[in-house]
Amino acid sequence: MSAEPAGPAEAGLSVVIPCYNEIDNVDHVCAEVLAELGHLDLELIFVDDGSSDGTLDAIKRLAMADSRVHYISFTRNFGFEAAFSAGYRYARRPWILHLDADQQFPAAEARRLIEVAGHGYDAVFGVRNDRKDPLARRLGTAAFHFVAARMLRIELPKDATAFRLVRTSLARKIVDLRLGTPYFLATVPRLTSRYTTVPVEHRARLRGESKVGLRWLAGHAIGLFVSVGRRLTTLASVTALGASALALLFALLAATGLLAPAAGGAALFVLVATALGVLGLTVRFLVVIAASQARPRLFYVREATVPVDAADLLFGPADPAPTNDLPEQRPATRSPEQART
Ligand code: UDP
Ligand code: MG
Repeated sequence: MSAEPAGPAEAGLSVVIPCYNEIDNVDHVCAEVLAELGHLDLELIFVDDGSSDGTLDAIKRLAMADSRVHYISFTRNFGFEAAFSAGYRYARRPWILHLDADQQFPAAEARRLIEVAGHGYDAVFGVRNDRKDPLARRLGTAAFHFVAARMLRIELPKDATAFRLVRTSLARKIVDLRLGTPYFLATVPRLTSRYTTVPVEHRARLRGESKVGLRWLAGHAIGLFVSVGRRLTTLASVTALGASALALLFALLAATGLLAPAAGGAALFVLVATALGVLGLTVRFLVVIAASQARPRLFYVREATVPVDAADLLFGPADPAPTNDLPEQRPATRSPEQART
């Protein structure tokens, strides 16, 4: 039998930091990571998710100053999951620590995850002791976990967050599934039983605004409920079919005079409305399922300081080098002859 692979303290760590318009945070998070974890064999991979506020320039300055700092920059904003997926895909140490750029998870807390991971786990998730986020977010997360785990029986690490330590080979396998929305939390338990959670401290966001809106979270939750858990879709379909059958029965009874026309009409109306409503929901679910099927690419990279597959680059080395700057607006200079062609 092969020896158990080493824990992150011995084997080394890639710290993946997704960033979308985090210009006020990148210097601070970089300094914190290096101060708290700099004694480990470390690389930092900032993933610039199409920021428009100069975040990439700030990251480049950090990379110039410290050879452990690397970056991957997208061609546009592809969203939180694409951002961390790129970091996981191209991490080069055996373990990945996922850290948000806004320092809501103190880097020092990673030591707890590292200690526990050393006991033979493939993934260790931080659980916020005392979450410092608005009430609506806290209630939303509680409802999400209740519906997913209790009602739909989707296996999730309980109350787990994105602050996590994962074996790079496991994280890469999940990214390589190329699920439209990777549902990282829900996919880990489908690949390994060696995962656990650890309580960690949490801070309020100090600088900048949250980039993850409630609408996005709701859409993400529904996507998970209908694509990983099948119960909801099945329930909606069965209800629609049942309501349609009852509506037909009422129609027949009303036609044969066995049901008073007024009562029959009202019952029929309610049932038809129910059937249509549930059918509409079913269609919506099917659309969500279709959208979450495997996709050829989750993101495109404009530039990076780590080697990136050619297929993940929007422009290959042979293409004319595009820059971040938008082309200058020039008046048309074509002659009338050229204008006809
Ligand atoms: N983020 C990203 N792309 C996005 C949205 C967010 O890379 O489209 C990053 C963001 O910069 C931060 C992390 O994902 O580092 C978590 O986002 P945020 O703090 O806004 O989420 P919240 O803590 O409010 O859930
Ligand atoms: Mg945050």
